[in-house]
Amino acid sequence: MNSDYSKKVIIVGAGPAGISCAIQLKRSGIDPLVLEKADPGGMLKYANLVENYPAFPGGISGKELSVLMLRQFDSEGVKIHTRRVQSVLYSSGFYNIETDSERYTSQILVVATGTSPILIEGVEISVDAEKKVLYNPSDFVELKNQNIAIIGSGDLAFDYALNLHRFNKVEILCRSSKPKCLSLLLERLRNYPNCSYSCNTSVISVSMLDSGLRILCSENERNIPRNVDYLIAAIGRKPNIDFISDQLLVKLNEFKLNTSFFIIGDAFNKNYRQTAIAAGDGVKTAMIINEILKE
Ligand SMILES: Cc1cc2nc3c(=O)[nH]c(=O)nc-3n(C[C@H](O)[C@H](O)[C@H](O)COP(=O)(O)OP(=O)(O)OC[C@H]3O[C@@H](n4cnc5c(N)ncnc54)[C@H](O)[C@@H]3O)c2cc1C
Repeated sequence: MNSDYSKKVIIVGAGPAGISCAIQLKRSGIDPLVLEKADPGGMLKYANLVENYPAFPGGISGKELSVLMLRQFDSEGVKIHTRRVQSVLYSSGFYNIETDSERYTSQILVVATGTSPILIEGVEISVDAEKKVLYNPSDFVELKNQNIAIIGSGDLAFDYALNLHRFNKVEILCRSSKPKCLSLLLERLRNYPNCSYSCNTSVISVSMLDSGLRILCSENERNIPRNVDYLIAAIGRKPNIDFISDQLLVKLNEFKLNTSFFIIGDAFNKNYRQTAIAAGDGVKTAMIINEILKE
């Protein structure tokens, strides 16, 4: 494959993992190229209050923390191209990376692409209602004066609600008999009169009613309708690694490419998706890469 750009190290994704990896590589004198499909900062931009990233007593909003990370990233002079990676192939010791425009080649590839939302299944959603069923924070963080239902019972659902309650009325619909979020999130939510949650509540169908949605829920064995403006799904996230070809996955096993190919941060960490862990992954991976390139 002819490539437009050839780099020793390419990092895909500019969230906390990719940013930390790039900063640490620069400190070692290695000049990576970062490919990012959207605004840098990753999912952290949408976290309401981050209280478990050291150095910020009392917490810091995800948005502010991502701005600080990006300021450091910029001050290190890391090169970033706004590109969506579509596929990766491995051949003769190089990774060939196809994006929505140029093609790239690298000797070492770091995949720090985070996660994407799991879509709702088993619920009848009419085609015209689909545009009001939202999955990505970028589509709903700016909502104001809306009546919103959120499906989910974990930290993500409660964090979204705590973010949205300032300007909206929010109800969380939990299928489980009790919320599964951190108890401190639940306590906070209880303090806000425009936030509520209902347990043992499963959404059965979603249809349009006037300009909003009519949601039918099975609630303690009774079917109860609700009228809302939007439905947000916070039912889990899966690794964003579909662009890694099967050919590469086979080669990873056959040739043990673990000194040139890394998946880090939320894309790798299953149940341990936290900013500090993603940042730590990034720094550690950069240190391993530095050792490999010195050999
Ligand atoms: C609402 C919410 C609240 C949270 N609260 C906390 C908290 O309190 N404390 C905490 O520690 N963590 C929290 N988190 C989790 C934290 O945001 C993540 O753990 C962290 O952002 C993971 O970093 P990452 O770099 O691995 O992935 P991400 O932040 O997801 O970054 C991945 C990047 O890769 C890019 N990308 C994806 N696919 C491609 C592609 N094909 N081509 C190019 N670029 C691509 C994406 O656009 C994105 O910028 C929260 C997250 C959310 C959503």
